[in-house]
Amino acid sequence: MQVIDGKLTSATIKQEIAAEVDKIKANGGRAPHLAAVLVGNDPASETYVSSKVKSCKEVGFTSTELRFPADMSEEELLQLVDKLNNQEDLDGYIVQLPLPKHIDETKVLMAINPDKDVDGFHPCNLGKMMTGLPTFIPATPAGIMELLTRYGVETSGKQCVVIGRSNIVGTPMSVLMSRKGADSTVTICHSRTKNLKEITLQADILIVALGKPKFVTADMVKPGATIIDVGIHRVPSSETKSGFRLVGDVDYAEVAPKCSFITPVPGGVGPMTIVSLLQNTLKAYRFRTEG
Ligand code: NAD
Repeated sequence: MQVIDGKLTSATIKQEIAAEVDKIKANGGRAPHLAAVLVGNDPASETYVSSKVKSCKEVGFTSTELRFPADMSEEELLQLVDKLNNQEDLDGYIVQLPLPKHIDETKVLMAINPDKDVDGFHPCNLGKMMTGLPTFIPATPAGIMELLTRYGVETSGKQCVVIGRSNIVGTPMSVLMSRKGADSTVTICHSRTKNLKEITLQADILIVALGKPKFVTADMVKPGATIIDVGIHRVPSSETKSGFRLVGDVDYAEVAPKCSFITPVPGGVGPMTIVSLLQNTLKAYRFRTEG
């Protein structure tokens, strides 16, 4: 069994990006610039935005954190989006989700200029992904593809099962795995799927993104499978100082001995998500400055 180390891989990719940024600056160019918009004070969102901004600094990007109170109106946010769409020195930006209930997320995401949509959530970019055109691939699925490639996991002709059909993880993941290049045969499962275990037992590659702690157990996994665990949950623990620890959607302790490759939580998919965002920002920068 080999652990797929997302922490190490993401550190390597950050060095690669930093080297590219150094080259750009040495040639007299400006640094790529990412902005993150945070509305409200959801603690998980605050953590995500802080680590995105910190990662930008690590690779030499310019980053801007734009924080607003939870009572910001939808109109005010749409005005900000319009301003960011037209800001000349800004290559890409993200609006951290979830947004407060009174703001229509779809309306906001649809208003983002697709050329600056480094999260890859705009239907225009999702459509390009579906047809195999160059675009921004949503960060978590992009990070998973990068891990599979860098660890030499064979995907061609393999049975891939994806659990979860969200727009940000499960659905794009199933498209990427079935596309030319990855060439897997994909089954996508969701909350209405019957006989889930029968299906997961067929999987050479099992990608789990349903948001339920330790949901996938050893009896659901084919021996020698590759397991990608997207889930991330804080659960109470008497063994840590903080009183909690992080677990995934997969019961790692019992599943790991059965597989050929597995991503741990933490340190698997999570760090790759941020790195993919940086890769998308560099892509946006090149698109804007080099055409
Ligand atoms: P979501 O809640 O939007 O979607 C969950 C999906 O799971 C749905 O499509 C639902 O149909 C399916 N599902 C629910 N119960 C099921 C069941 N019993 N059997 C089969 N399918 C079932 O979730 P999401 O946004 O895709 O996130 C999934 C998990 O991944 C969460 O734990 C989230 O925190 C985590 N996540 C991690 C990262 C990262 O960077 N590591 C990024 C995004 C999401």
